[in-house]
Amino acid sequence: MMKQRVLLLLALACAAGAFSSFAAAQARPFPGPDLQQIYQRLLPQIEKIPAFDHHAHPGFADDPDVDAMASAPDTSLPQRTRADNPELIAAAKALFGYPYDDLSPEHAKWLVAKKAELKKQYPGTAYFNLILDKINTESSVANRAMMADYLDPKRFPWVFFADSFMWPFNNEREAARNPDEAVYIPLQEKMLHRWMGQENVSKLPAKFSDYLEFIVRVLADNQKKGGIAMKFEVAYFRPTTFSDPTRQQAEDIYRQYASAGVPSEKEYRTFQDYIFRFLVNLSSRLNLPVHIHTAAGIGNYFNFSESNIMNLENVLRDPRYRSTTFVMIHGGYPLEREAIWLAAVPNVYLDSSLGELVQYPSAFKDTLKMWLETFPDKITFGTDCFPYNEVLGAEESYWLGAESSRMALAAALAEMVSENEITETRALALAHAYLHDNAVKLYGDKVH
Ligand SMILES: [Zn+2]
Repeated sequence: MMKQRVLLLLALACAAGAFSSFAAAQARPFPGPDLQQIYQRLLPQIEKIPAFDHHAHPGFADDPDVDAMASAPDTSLPQRTRADNPELIAAAKALFGYPYDDLSPEHAKWLVAKKAELKKQYPGTAYFNLILDKINTESSVANRAMMADYLDPKRFPWVFFADSFMWPFNNEREAARNPDEAVYIPLQEKMLHRWMGQENVSKLPAKFSDYLEFIVRVLADNQKKGGIAMKFEVAYFRPTTFSDPTRQQAEDIYRQYASAGVPSEKEYRTFQDYIFRFLVNLSSRLNLPVHIHTAAGIGNYFNFSESNIMNLENVLRDPRYRSTTFVMIHGGYPLEREAIWLAAVPNVYLDSSLGELVQYPSAFKDTLKMWLETFPDKITFGTDCFPYNEVLGAEESYWLGAESSRMALAAALAEMVSENEITETRALALAHAYLHDNAVKLYGDKVH
């Protein structure tokens, strides 16, 4: 009995040594009175960590290439992402010294003029580099239809869109499904034609094998142009349940509809399921991680039950794709609690962007804390910044996303320290991992 107890004590001592980054005492369910002090100590250190923004749409409001899709008509945006969010005034003050407390049309002119002046002062790529410097972001993904000459590729690695390869046929039926698709589907056709133009392909190849070859060429060329990953926003256009058809099935459908005719919905989905899996396979061959939009989306016809993150589980847990890196953009929000368990798959990562914008820091803190307590090595920071309009641009949404994330991160970690889960040293290591290191290591030496 005695001997057993000694062994147990030894085992505990070893465990304590091995996990010294965890707090020495037992975890407790409430933070102590030191919570605010810990937060005040952590926040300035977290503000100093240069970030890697894993998901953003930088660009000017009049730039149509900021995304491969556009806002659906009459979309109802959640409160905090509306242009009248007063926090955007705080952003304009912090970034540009905006002197007013409202955004009346008269005052908004000041902001537009100030930005125009700065653009002159910081020409070419210098302007958006300056914005990154102001929010202490070292590099930011530019998830855009095409890259812009005013974004420095050294600091804005490109993530291009791969959805359009799934819509090569007559899309009448697809676009007629609802008013959102009437906007989205023609833009997918446009994107596919741009890729065709890039590869000097004037019309859809007659042979399926040539179509697949064309897809490979686009991806390889995009990679040569600096693309570090491919992005799917497919959840906006169809359900995210992917069946597993044979190549023959896809080829038969392609042969029937490549030149004429409207495929039935079932035929189109079968064909798309094959193309999606083809792209996922290609991703591991080319070493191009796959980013997938996984969250509630804008538009009045976004079908969340058909497009939620858990529908992807059969693909993510398929051993055939274990060498494909998947990044779940927006972390499945509002299913982020389920979604974190997908990060148990070694090649699956969660990006937190959007969550920090649609939620206030007090709520986003709880999301981050739950993630940090579960798979802290599999979560990455992103803002999902977007130019709302000429007055409130990508600049302000970058600021709001970065500030909110850093505050929520400091608050989540402060609670974890105060509740005896981790030490402050470990808290800062986790902050570095989330804000920068976890994402950067997915791309080898291509980003920093
Ligand atoms: Zn986005």
